[in-house]
This record gives sequence, structure tokens and C-alpha cells, in this order.
Amino acid sequence: MNIAWIGTGIMGGAMMCHLKKAGHEVFAYNRTKAKALAYADQGIHVCDTIGECVESADVIFTMVAYPRDVEEVVETILAHAKTGSMVIDMTTSSPTLAKRLYENGKNQGIAILDAPVSGGDSGAKAGTLSIMVGGDEDAYTKAVPLFQTMGTPHYMGEAGAGQHTKACNQICVAGAVAAMSEAVHYARKNHLDAKQMLEAIAGGAAGSWQINNTAPRVLNEDFAPGFFIKHFIKDMHIVQEVMKEHGENLQMLDSVCAMYEALADQGHENDGTQGLIRYYES
Ligand code: NAP
Repeated sequence: MNIAWIGTGIMGGAMMCHLKKAGHEVFAYNRTKAKALAYADQGIHVCDTIGECVESADVIFTMVAYPRDVEEVVETILAHAKTGSMVIDMTTSSPTLAKRLYENGKNQGIAILDAPVSGGDSGAKAGTLSIMVGGDEDAYTKAVPLFQTMGTPHYMGEAGAGQHTKACNQICVAGAVAAMSEAVHYARKNHLDAKQMLEAIAGGAAGSWQINNTAPRVLNEDFAPGFFIKHFIKDMHIVQEVMKEHGENLQMLDSVCAMYEALADQGHENDGTQGLIRYYES
């Protein structure tokens, strides 16, 4: 199959390589070309424009950053993609935008799925992501073998349902990353060895992905992204916008979002989300 991949950053680059390893021809485009060229020695064809990248593709994946990037990139794709092709957006983006793009694609005979993921940079490399998919079920069924190269797909319903599921995921992540950070801060304040404390609680009722995967980066004072603080703030703003439509807000998420916004204001927006510990320690 001819695959186009737009957005070869931390997540997209690793995910795209699983499709190549599964035997597909992969054509890649990234705004900063060097990030796509980094994969040329793995047999990825690097393109100069989105048009060149998608014109002969059967399936086109996007893994960019913000909803505005998704909108811009998908509009360009729709101007160049062949009728009958499929677009799969794996960016964490807005459910409302996903529904609108789905309708635009449908008018052109191009199926669009929203398929955001969870599992972090480690899950992208290992091919163990959880993939939450919205859109037409027949398009989903065709895409399942492609998704299975990257992880485990879950069909969630109509267009936008994948993004709504990812919003639920991010609500849980907000609580889990704050809980882990507060436990580490408490341990340090009370003369416990934080590593020993985490080992003791990881196997009990407090165990979590954040304790297993993010806490070691906290203990090593490694604040490189994994998952950018700026992207997590974007995700929490998406949740807040959706809940505002219901006239509600989510207190835990709002409080975690405010802490990350304070860190971003201090210049930490390009750190990984494990940098939340700095909020407590500053
Ligand atoms: P990233 O490293 O910033 O990757 C995004 C890539 O998309 C960058 O290489 C960027 O190019 C490219 N891009 C952005 N806008 C573009 C455009 N208009 N045209 C072409 N290329 C464009 O971020 P990431 O960590 O891979 O995350 C990607 C998405 O996945 C985000 O929505 C994030 O919230 C979500 N996500 C991340 C994780 C994680 O753990 N990292 C986990 C699950 C979901 P430039 O280099 O030019 O900026």
C-alpha cells in the first residue's frame, strides 16, 4: 500500500516506521524537513510538499501538533488526494474540528477518521499505543491492519468520538501526573527516599502508568520531552472548551491546567510533562 505520513515529530516518526517495517511504501512530509530526512536511511521517501506526498497515497496519516495545524494540513491534503483515499488524523485535536473535516472529506469521496493515541513516546517506539478511533465503521475496518502495526485500535463511534475518548484519557492523565508529582514532593519533604516510596506503592492501589513511566524521569531530573507541556495544555484547553458547551467545568483538570500554565509562563512549555514537579518545588 502507498502510505503518506505528515508530521514526523516525537510520535509521528516512530509510528510511521512501524508501517514501513510492515512492508508499505511510506512517503513523508514534515514542516522542518530535517526531521523527515532523519528517516530516509530507513527507506522512507521524503517529500518537499504535502501535495507531492499525498497524490498517489491510498492512506494518508497526519500526526501534527495543534488543531490549527490539523485544519491547515487536512485542507491541503483534500486539495491533492485521490478520490477513494482515506485520511487518518492521529493528532490530539478538537472533536468539533474532527466532525467538520469528516464532512469536508465525505463531500469529496475521502473518508476521514480521527484516531488519537495514548501510550507516550515509549509506546510509539514499541508499537504498543492505545488508538481511539471515530468515523465510519467500514473505513475503520479497512484501517485496522495499519493501526495494529502501531498498537491496539478501539472503535468509538461517529466522527469526533476518537477525540472525545482521548479527552477522557487526558482528564485521567491530569489527575495521575499530579498525584505522582505530589507524592514525590511529599516524600522529599518528609525524608523518604522517593524511589523507594514509588517502588513500594507501584504494585498497590496507587499504581499507575505515570508512576511506571514518568516518575523515573522526575527522579533523574530529566525534563526532556516525551510529551510536551505545551501540548498537554492544548489538550486540557480542548476539554475545557467542550465542557463549556455544557455550561460546566472540571475542577481537578482546571487546577492541573493552571499549574502547567504557570510553568509555561516561566518558560517551561517545551519541557516534558514530568516537569510538573518543578511547580511544587519552586
Ligand atoms: P512534535 O514532536 O512537536 O511533532 C509534531 C510534528 O508535526 C513536528 O515535527 C512538526 O514540525 C509537525 N507539524 C506541525 N504542524 C505542521 C504543519 N502545519 N505541516 C507539517 N508538519 C507540521 O509533537 P509530538 O510529541 O510528536 O505530538 C504530536 C501530537 O500527538 C500532538 O497533538 C500531541 O498532543 C499528541 N500526543 C503526544 C504524545 C507524546 O507522548 N509525545 C502522546 C500522545 C499524543 P516542526 O518540526 O516544523 O514543528
